[in-house]
Amino acid sequence: MDCLFCKIVEGEIPADVLYQDEKVIVFRDINPQAPFHALVIPRQHIPTLNDIADEDCELVGYMLKIAGDVAEEHGFAEDGYRTVFNCNTHGGQTVYHIHLHLLGGKPMGWPPY
Ligand code: C5P
Repeated sequence: MDCLFCKIVEGEIPADVLYQDEKVIVFRDINPQAPFHALVIPRQHIPTLNDIADEDCELVGYMLKIAGDVAEEHGFAEDGYRTVFNCNTHGGQTVYHIHLHLLGGKPMGWPPY
C-alpha cells in the first residue's frame, strides 16, 4: 500500500517522533502551522474519517486522549490548543491515513479560513 503515514509507522520514512505505543504514533508536522504542531496517527491504516468502523471508535477516542497528554507534557494544555481532523477535499486532507493535528503555543483563530 502506497501510504506515506504507513511508511512512517513502518520506519521506512523518518519522522520526529514524540511518542509511540502499540496503537498510535505522534510526530512533529514537517510544515508546522503553530509553535507546536504534531500529528497523532493510528498504526492501523484508516484512509479518512468516513472509513471509521464501529470497532475503531475506541482507537479514535484514544488518539484524542494522547493528544491531551502530549499537550500536557509540552506545557500548553492549560493555555489551550487546537485539534483538527481534515476529511477529504473540502476538509483539506492531503494524506489519506487519518491523523489528528495538535496545534499549540499561540492563540488560534476562528473560523479557520
Ligand atoms: O490534514 P492534512 O492531510 O492536510 O495534513 C497532512 C499533514 O501532514 C500536513 O500538515 C503535512 O505538513 C504533514 N506531513 C508531515 N510529514 C510528511 C508529509 C506530510 O508531517 N512526511
